[in-house]
Amino acid sequence: MSDSAGDSKLEVKQASKEAKESENVAEKYSAMTVSKNSDVTMGELSAFNTVPAHKPVKKQIQFVEDKQEFSRFPTKTGRRSLSRSISQSSTDSYSSAASYTDSSDDETSPRDKAQVNSKGSGDFCVKNIKQAEFGRREIEIAEQDMSALISLRKRAQGEKPLAGAKIIGCTHITAQTAVLIETLAALGAQCRWTACNIYSTQNEVAAALSEAGVAVFAWKGESEDDFWWCIDRCVNMEGWQANMILDDGGDLTHWVYKKYPNVFKKIRGIVEESVTGVHRLYQLSKAGKLSVPAMNVNDSVTKQKFDNLYCCRESILDGLKRTTDVMFGGKQVVVCGYGEVGKGCCAALKALGAIVYVTEIDPICALQACMDGFRVVKLNEVIRQVDVIITCTGNKNVVTRDQLDRMKNGSIVCNMGHSNTEIDVASLRTPELTWERVRSQVDHVIWPDGKRVILLAEGRLLNLSCSTVPTFVLSITATTQALALIELYNAPEGRYKQDVYLLPKKMDEYVASLHLPTFDAHLTELSDEQAKYLGLNKNGPFKPNYYRY
Ligand code: NAD
Repeated sequence: MSDSAGDSKLEVKQASKEAKESENVAEKYSAMTVSKNSDVTMGELSAFNTVPAHKPVKKQIQFVEDKQEFSRFPTKTGRRSLSRSISQSSTDSYSSAASYTDSSDDETSPRDKAQVNSKGSGDFCVKNIKQAEFGRREIEIAEQDMSALISLRKRAQGEKPLAGAKIIGCTHITAQTAVLIETLAALGAQCRWTACNIYSTQNEVAAALSEAGVAVFAWKGESEDDFWWCIDRCVNMEGWQANMILDDGGDLTHWVYKKYPNVFKKIRGIVEESVTGVHRLYQLSKAGKLSVPAMNVNDSVTKQKFDNLYCCRESILDGLKRTTDVMFGGKQVVVCGYGEVGKGCCAALKALGAIVYVTEIDPICALQACMDGFRVVKLNEVIRQVDVIITCTGNKNVVTRDQLDRMKNGSIVCNMGHSNTEIDVASLRTPELTWERVRSQVDHVIWPDGKRVILLAEGRLLNLSCSTVPTFVLSITATTQALALIELYNAPEGRYKQDVYLLPKKMDEYVASLHLPTFDAHLTELSDEQAKYLGLNKNGPFKPNYYRY
């Protein structure tokens, strides 16, 4: 899941040319044969929080500019039915965090517990280390669908391309990210990890990682104070200094910049996954404050063209079904925005027999929608008749109060875009309207005449709030992250400067090739004559950087 980094994208430096010239790690790996027997996959995220019903205030982790002292009495917050929520601070992240071991009965803060793993190490802070065995099973299930990472482990086993790497990571801590973390460890890295979101940690998975020797500082339902405390514990370890950062949302990077700027003397690179984090990196770069190279994973093809499209194609129906049990056949649905996310939603809805309308501001996307068989309309033209509205624009106030007033009784409104401002939810918090929480993440907003509109996830990203995200999609993004770390860590001096880079095209292609065996897909090889005719290397890259896919 992801989105644009605005005009800063224009400043992205294309690294593939330089990368071609010397020992490119991606090239090296991509030259290897893709095993047909390798297993399955993974993918990405976005984020927000669940706030209690009817409270218009959105809680968001803010940067703590001057905070170094942590509360001696950590707040015991939130360990209640928050298993699928994600913080808005990390905008392109996933949570498949259906945590089955929510020990809401244990109110003791992990910070107050003395825990050690079976090897006697206490260098972690998780909810309950005894949940490790259960978490291990969750990780094993995820591995089934993340064959690319497993195959990367096997391929690089001998040479350990991350030997000597000391990675600090800040991502959602779920079974899927655990597979990534353990892959990095198998490739030679030492890892210390913390959560990028206060709600999305799967406690049992955090326990399993800690039991396996990864220093994890995270639990579900952290307070804001806990959140920064965990990040600090992850970074600040006597006698150990990180040399790589893997971030999702930019909080870890920010913390290191503010509190431990000297750490950057040793850091070889930052890999950032989310649109928010990438945006912050560009800001640092613009201000001349970026002191190390950074990889923008968010805008790599294997992220944007897969996560945004296929993840949403799979999860839109899941989110709607779990919350409303709605049947789609014959229903009239309007999808606002026909970008990657909108295209995925429309395809899924059409396949179930829904009558799908599209709204667009861009004539190119509108034409695509027309050619794909959708009626392109203005929202006002269909507002009174549609059963479902789905926003996917990344824009604000796409559905206004006036339009909500005109929707018919029983209609559903939800958002798949990054921000919870696509639907003007705030305008619904007026005295004449009654809010009734009917299920987790489902509100009936009731008009004085008895009309009800069903609002899902209070206008936050539906799939990330109310459903799971397919592991296979997560595999693709995680593989991209692993390769970006390998590339930055092994790049010869001078290949990357203090700037934000896109992944070399060849690396994108390699990530894709690692996922092909799952489908038993057989690539056609260029003949020498064809390669010459097209002016291509037989091993790729097969497309110029400007190619749109
Ligand atoms: P995109 O830029 O490809 O598509 C957005 C489309 O919305 C564009 O075609 C744009 O012209 C159109 N648009 C803008 N304002 C509009 C308006 N007022 N009315 C109608 N159309 C309008 O972006 P994308 O990759 O499809 O992402 C869209 C949003 O979804 C972003 O906010 C992104 O962060 C988010 N996202 C969500 C997930 C998820 O899992 N739910 C995954 C990836 C991205």
